Amino acid sequence: MKEIFERYNITLSNEQLEKFDKYYRLLVHYNSMFNLTAITEREEVYKKHFVDSLLGVDNLTMETLIDVGSGGGFPAIPLKIVNPNIKLTLLEATGKKCEFLKTVVSELDLKEVTVINGRAEDYAKNPDFREKFDHASARAVARLNTLLEYCLPFVKIGGSFISYKANAKDEIAECDNALKILGGSIQEVKEYTLDDANRSIIIVKKEKSTPPKYPRGQGKERKNPL
Ligand code: SAM
Repeated sequence: MKEIFERYNITLSNEQLEKFDKYYRLLVHYNSMFNLTAITEREEVYKKHFVDSLLGVDNLTMETLIDVGSGGGFPAIPLKIVNPNIKLTLLEATGKKCEFLKTVVSELDLKEVTVINGRAEDYAKNPDFREKFDHASARAVARLNTLLEYCLPFVKIGGSFISYKANAKDEIAECDNALKILGGSIQEVKEYTLDDANRSIIIVKKEKSTPPKYPRGQGKERKNPL
């Protein structure tokens, strides 16, 4: 599978390739017991999950990252495999998925990874988590205006939220108010294609502290986005 990564200019060591192979096998095995991914064919998983998690995100070495709504571990586990020095927190609302993530962390021998079974809107209020991370990331969790309220409270001033999207433009257009209220600004939008599919990475810079009342909780982030 080395050539799939190389097709996208991602060069990996044999040890990293072995970790991806083990991850693939665990994903497919646990997916037969509970739903982690709709894609299970090896090449598709490598492209649509592994490469997709890595494209457009540059070196994150020696920093802290919280991945919100990790599910089967995307994008955080691939980012950790290629950036072993990141101190990683995986936040996931579903208990079974957290058990899977803990198994992956242990089987792949990943260091400095914490798996938390909880919701972003609750943990973002916890002083040990609030504005404590250099980066937050999220892929396929909610629309951008909702995600900003979930994720920006975790990010330190000067840090960034990395949002993985299919089509950035429409979602960015509805975010002006959320960005203003929550203290962020769009720093960069990276666009690329993965097998003819449009993919975007939106980098949101945290410029000001997020007011304590956000996230509002009780589902308001989704039902009534800022
Ligand atoms: N990020 C993974 C990916 O790209 O494959 C999983 C995406 S899955 C569609 C969305 C995940 O986010 C689910 O596992 C769900 O339990 C989790 N989730 C949704 N809202 C959440 C919240 N407010 N806090 C924590 N996890 C959440």
